[in-house]
Amino acid sequence: MARQVIKAVTCPVCGTLCDDLEVVVEDGRIVDIYNACAMGAAKFLHAQKHRLRQPMVRKNGELKPVSLEEAIKEAARILAEAEYPILYGWSSTSCEAIKVGLELAEELGGVIDNTATICHGPSILAIQDVGLSGFTLGQIRHRVDLVIYWGSNPWDAHPRHLERYSAFSEGRFQPSAWRRAVLKLKAMQARRRVQRARGPIYLAKEKMPEVPPIPDGVKPPEAIFRETRRLVVIDVRKTATAERADYFLRVRPGEDFELVQAFRMVVNGEELDVPEVAGVPTEVIYEVADVMMSCRAGVLFFGLGLTMSKGKIRNIEAAISLVRDLNRHTKFFILPMRGHFNVTGANIVFTWTTGYPFAVDFSQGYPRYNPGETGVIDILNRGDTDAALVVASDPVAHFPRKAVEHLVSNPLVVLDPAPTPTTAMADVVIPTAWVGIEVPGTAYRMDHVPLPLKKVVDPPPGILSDEEVLKRILAEVRRLKGKPVEALAAHA
Ligand code: SF4
Repeated sequence: MARQVIKAVTCPVCGTLCDDLEVVVEDGRIVDIYNACAMGAAKFLHAQKHRLRQPMVRKNGELKPVSLEEAIKEAARILAEAEYPILYGWSSTSCEAIKVGLELAEELGGVIDNTATICHGPSILAIQDVGLSGFTLGQIRHRVDLVIYWGSNPWDAHPRHLERYSAFSEGRFQPSAWRRAVLKLKAMQARRRVQRARGPIYLAKEKMPEVPPIPDGVKPPEAIFRETRRLVVIDVRKTATAERADYFLRVRPGEDFELVQAFRMVVNGEELDVPEVAGVPTEVIYEVADVMMSCRAGVLFFGLGLTMSKGKIRNIEAAISLVRDLNRHTKFFILPMRGHFNVTGANIVFTWTTGYPFAVDFSQGYPRYNPGETGVIDILNRGDTDAALVVASDPVAHFPRKAVEHLVSNPLVVLDPAPTPTTAMADVVIPTAWVGIEVPGTAYRMDHVPLPLKKVVDPPPGILSDEEVLKRILAEVRRLKGKPVEALAAHA
């Protein structure tokens, strides 16, 4: 039995893009994986089972198996005949495939958009407005002694982020806070054991003392703030990450903007003459602002809780401004927690090709960008489009109902390795290879560092990469439009 351990594999699941995975392959099958979190391991271990293997075209209302050639011809016909097609997805495929997708969108005169349009779009708009204090996750790992997660729950959504890059990582100049977290946990367990053991004595001699609950936002003992990193979580609910934090500030839903501005006032030396802001007591705001200003280096990671709550782009502008203010006192960074493994790559490839990171409209013959008008949700809600190509995404499961209704009422082409609600509603389904498992490629980590994605097993026979299928669709579209032969040759 041929057994092989492939090392330094990059995980194609979340924006953390861990590149230290070890995949065990036996006779062409993935049988085990080391270093991955549960999400990463599940993708590798189930990729070969949970997948599409047969191209399909809808005939008489039913998806029927067809050859790859027929599916590509039908996809190209649908897209070439459309007046205003949308091309959506792109955050879970390679940069190489995204590049071909942009060329196809230009050829079709359609709109191309990626998943940033429904997640960190407001963050990108804010960064374009006010700039960003950037860095790499390596710098955070080695230098930062204060980590803030605002509206983000990495313990569940980016499970190895804390361990690899932030509070629980072991840096060259910063020891991990993990040991302290474990010690706290052990001390708590020991205290409980003692209390349990002493219980009968209390019962025999006196009434058992009641332990008052510790209210959220109350500062922990000073002793735990020595030497190691500190972790602050600001969120509307107590998440798994918040349970491990030194400070948890529960902000009232929809009032993040007010809390950011309160921090800015304190950092800039102004007085808060109210008892609380957004549900957080004023003394806690002063205390945490002090922690921010007195750290050696700090970082603010923000998630959809800040980006997609009331205020949206204004929340992010305020947060970036807070970090700019903090840089007058110490060194501080800020970064969005990106979800899909290559959503950052999609923004980067879109930008280097067209000048714009998402929602790019080629209908005038040149790239136009006006989020609110040229985003796919806006277009679908207006009912403006007449065909769609979806690559490595599942909008039927995630878009608002009105947008989904319009999406599926028109011809729909889907490229995906696995069955999804969107493939079930499609008119043409073309199975493709898993990027980073069955075919190689390039992806960008959330801090804009490009990493290679490896091939660890072969795709099923006849299954091509997104890049190759898109090249064939593009060549067929050009043939249908009567383009010169040399344009076809470049993509043959
Ligand atoms: Fe993969 Fe993200 Fe888990 Fe890392 S944290 S192993 S990139 S799913």
